[in-house]
Amino acid sequence: MNQCQTDKTLVARKAHVCQECGRAISKGTEHHLQKGVVDGSWYSWRVHSDCAELYWALNRERGSWWDDYLPLSEYCISEIDHLRGKFPHAVCRQELTRELQEIRWQNRQRD
Ligand SMILES: [Zn+2]
Repeated sequence: MNQCQTDKTLVARKAHVCQECGRAISKGTEHHLQKGVVDGSWYSWRVHSDCAELYWALNRERGSWWDDYLPLSEYCISEIDHLRGKFPHAVCRQELTRELQEIRWQNRQRD
């Protein structure tokens, strides 16, 4: 059974890492926090507000139920790109995270 206990927008009192894009949520930044219970275990989902909006928009397009939602990392940039006009920073953070992952992967191949 899934039960959301907290679902709110708040201002960061300290720096956090967005669980959708992996980039920093700086102190003082308004962001989204959701906490709850899924199958008997507590979860916490702290993300940039626009990463949350992008996540919800993409999963609504898929017709998913919320417990079947895919994380943004599961989408190709080509599947996200059409929402660039609505969530430009969130799409750019997805691109940056993937490019940095690619660079790290290439650097590991050279070592
Ligand atoms: Zn984010």
